[in-house]
Amino acid sequence: MLISLVRERAPEETRVGLVPDAVAKLAAAGHRVLVEPGAGERADFGDPEYVQAGAELADDGPERADLTVSVRPLTGDTVARLRRGTATVSFLPAAQSLELVRQLAGAGITSFALELVPRISRAQAMDAMSSQALVAGYRCAIIAADMLPRMFPLNMTAAGTLQPAQVLVLGAGVAGLQAIATCRRLGAVVRAYDVRAAAAEEIASVGGKPIELDLETLEGSGGYAREMTADRARRQQELLEPYIAAADVLITTAAVPGRQAPRLVTADNVRRMKAGSVVIDLAAETGGNVEGSVPGETVRIGRARVWGGRNVPGQLPGPASRLLAQNIVNLLGLLTGPEGRFSADFADEIVAGACVTHDGQVRHEPTKALLQ
Ligand code: NAD
Repeated sequence: MLISLVRERAPEETRVGLVPDAVAKLAAAGHRVLVEPGAGERADFGDPEYVQAGAELADDGPERADLTVSVRPLTGDTVARLRRGTATVSFLPAAQSLELVRQLAGAGITSFALELVPRISRAQAMDAMSSQALVAGYRCAIIAADMLPRMFPLNMTAAGTLQPAQVLVLGAGVAGLQAIATCRRLGAVVRAYDVRAAAAEEIASVGGKPIELDLETLEGSGGYAREMTADRARRQQELLEPYIAAADVLITTAAVPGRQAPRLVTADNVRRMKAGSVVIDLAAETGGNVEGSVPGETVRIGRARVWGGRNVPGQLPGPASRLLAQNIVNLLGLLTGPEGRFSADFADEIVAGACVTHDGQVRHEPTKALLQ
């Protein structure tokens, strides 16, 4: 298969869809990779490294390739350069990209969205949501430690004792667990809460102290969280209030698949935090777990500073790209037919689940419904 790696067009996107190691793996599997010059620059992967890994540098990859790889969805201009019947793999938030989806379908492109890869055991190695959440969770903990005007660990010295920082993590999925583990490694005392029944054990397994609230758990399909009712949200906010007030650092990572991020913390909750407290809202871009957080900015609420996440995995572009590229290489394995050509077997639930458009049609039903 002839694979094209495009240079990201969004100035704020620092990641790259394939790193040189991934190119070497694809080349070893018999594929040819065309790399747009400068594709890996912002993640510190230079053109010579790609060439050494077996890639060719080319400006016309999209025109020539059977399959195009990118982090963000291709721009309309790049889609216009693709040949009919070829494929794309990228993140593709279909519901927010309806015009692009229409264009992809109209151009006869088979498009795959990394966020739609089903989260089943067999697909774990292709799960870019998890790999990027892991990087984001780590980053949240490091930002918190950097912003907090005190030290994380307990220090008992001849000059006196410094008490450990108190961290509260709300939402203990992949990102939250990584934030807990990282804060623990830095020596903080970490408490955490999640609505899923299995979360308490997971929190404890990475050294956190699970908070048990007198509330029903909220398990949806596939072990994911369900949306809260307004009543439950209010009750949860009330019960968490003393934990938030006692925390030096609050890190929020809660999400519900396919929905806006749940509002877990009010501005009043934040106003009751101690002087110098730090709030890290990883969900700022998807609606915010914390009232008043702004993506990409640090704002002051009361005596706390509130940091809103924006493309947080992209703040560590090297490791984020490495993991993402391996996810993509694994997915491409499923999209390669017996003769090494592109082939989409829609009997496979991963292929079918991740596909947005194919053969002139929108295959992803929720997106199709939005387009009608
Ligand atoms: P996510 O990013 O969808 O959400 C983050 C966390 O927020 C979740 O743990 C969720 O329960 C929590 N949350 C939602 N509403 C909340 C609320 N009101 N208050 C507090 N917390 C709230 O989740 P994720 O990181 O993708 O992981 C969720 C689950 O899926 C975990 O059990 C994880 O182990 C599992 N998982 C499975 C696979 C796989 O099998 N391929 C991959 C990744 C994750």
